[in-house]
Amino acid sequence: MQNSSSVRLLRRAALGCAVAVSFALAGVGAGTSASAATGAGAQAAPVGAPSASIAYSAATYGRTVALTFDDGPGPFTGQVLDLLARYHAQATFCQIGNQAAANSTLVKRILADGHRLCDHTVDHPQPMGTLPHATQVHEITAAKEMISKAGGPGTRIRWFRAPGGDFSPENRRIAVQDGLRPLGWTVDPRDWSRPGAASIVATVKRELRPGGVVLMHDGGGNRSQTVAALRELLPWMTRQGYRFSLPAS
Ligand SMILES: [Zn+2]
Repeated sequence: MQNSSSVRLLRRAALGCAVAVSFALAGVGAGTSASAATGAGAQAAPVGAPSASIAYSAATYGRTVALTFDDGPGPFTGQVLDLLARYHAQATFCQIGNQAAANSTLVKRILADGHRLCDHTVDHPQPMGTLPHATQVHEITAAKEMISKAGGPGTRIRWFRAPGGDFSPENRRIAVQDGLRPLGWTVDPRDWSRPGAASIVATVKRELRPGGVVLMHDGGGNRSQTVAALRELLPWMTRQGYRFSLPAS
């Protein structure tokens, strides 16, 4: 990943994720988080810990796509799961700890359907990088515990996605020490901003490349446009020969 691409992605990231508790400061942190994240490859990590680098690709090679859904679980998660099941598509759900705790039945269904979970903090603070260290530790470690508890015994969480993509050396290090690899994305159709299902579909069709990671949202507001777009995108991906994969871990 070239730095310029990373910066572009992260700038997009800082603008690309909304939730009820979000602040209007996302754009302010974009430049800082981008430069910090791209310069943070040499963090010390415990033995056996996942990579601290941000995953930007599907785990398997070839014509694969890793679908990711953020900010849930919530009222639209069931419809997303129904569609994924219809197309035998595996996905990763980046969950907010509070949402997981309040919707444990959905967390269990996500796991039962064969999907994976990602830690998206307790309550989605933005920008995350300005919080005291102890608060950032709590946001990541407590969310992991909340999601794990909601999922039940044996629940495994492998990834961490910072709210709004606001990755920093600090939150990446915290995540890695908790056994979580930072998870980015390569395609952001900005579905959270409700640009219309047609726009979501068009962006994904235009920007998806083999091995890509697609960001969409099953939580954080009315996601009927996301569901409608997914209804079109899943058969399109299948027709295009894409296989559904998990992110690189
Ligand atoms: Zn989010």
